Amino acid sequence: MPLEIITIPCLSDNYAYLAHDAQSGDTAVIDIPEAAPILKAAAKRGWKITHVLVTHHHWDHVGGLDEVLATFPDARVFGARADLERLPPLHVALDEGDTVSIGAETGTVMDVSGHTLGHIAYYFADSDVVFTADSLMALGCGRVFEGTKPQMWESLSKLAALPGNTVVCSGHEYTQANARFALTIEPDNPALISRCKEIDAARAAGNPTVPSLLSVELDTNPFLRAAIPSLQRHLGMDGADPSQVFAEIRSRKDNF
Ligand code: ZN
Ligand code: FE
Repeated sequence: MPLEIITIPCLSDNYAYLAHDAQSGDTAVIDIPEAAPILKAAAKRGWKITHVLVTHHHWDHVGGLDEVLATFPDARVFGARADLERLPPLHVALDEGDTVSIGAETGTVMDVSGHTLGHIAYYFADSDVVFTADSLMALGCGRVFEGTKPQMWESLSKLAALPGNTVVCSGHEYTQANARFALTIEPDNPALISRCKEIDAARAAGNPTVPSLLSVELDTNPFLRAAIPSLQRHLGMDGADPSQVFAEIRSRKDNF
């Protein structure tokens, strides 16, 4: 049975997620920006948090950990071995290709460095869900703080290669701002134009714009579309290496 996913708004614009396996009762929380909304979401459903999956070291993704562990002291904490020195203490240190089990569901660790070095994503193939935090985001991607832009492109390319029906659980509600930027890169993309309207409607109603579907990201997210000829033409980069086109789009977003 696929994992049941709950989206939890935290802080001003972060998201945490609960992933629950009904059969075993296992419940993972993916990122812990702050404890209170996470504990509330678990308590409301009578779920006990058994796993904490950390994506990267930024405070807005780990800040609530101690408080969650105070309530669920038996929960095991997972994170990237590559970032051991900066992450909170882990029970299990993970490398790319390692797996994490939530009940019978198996997640595979993907190295998606770029935003930070040691940023990982968790892909649960049988549940068609990937937790991407600040790597691939709805209509965007994380700012490249520690890695290089070619490295971020490589990370996004790995995520882009997952099945189109994969649900992308990302770390922030930045989608409306991302949409305004995306329209400057592909003003004539009909799928983007209609998605931007949906996003405005969702935000006006106070609803999250995440998770999103990978196939929709592939059709609309400029950071995944650096190889598309019409996009390249709009940027005056016909036939350029997609990695360079990505770097140009990322630079424009940094200055947007
Ligand atoms: Zn971050
Ligand atoms: Fe973040």
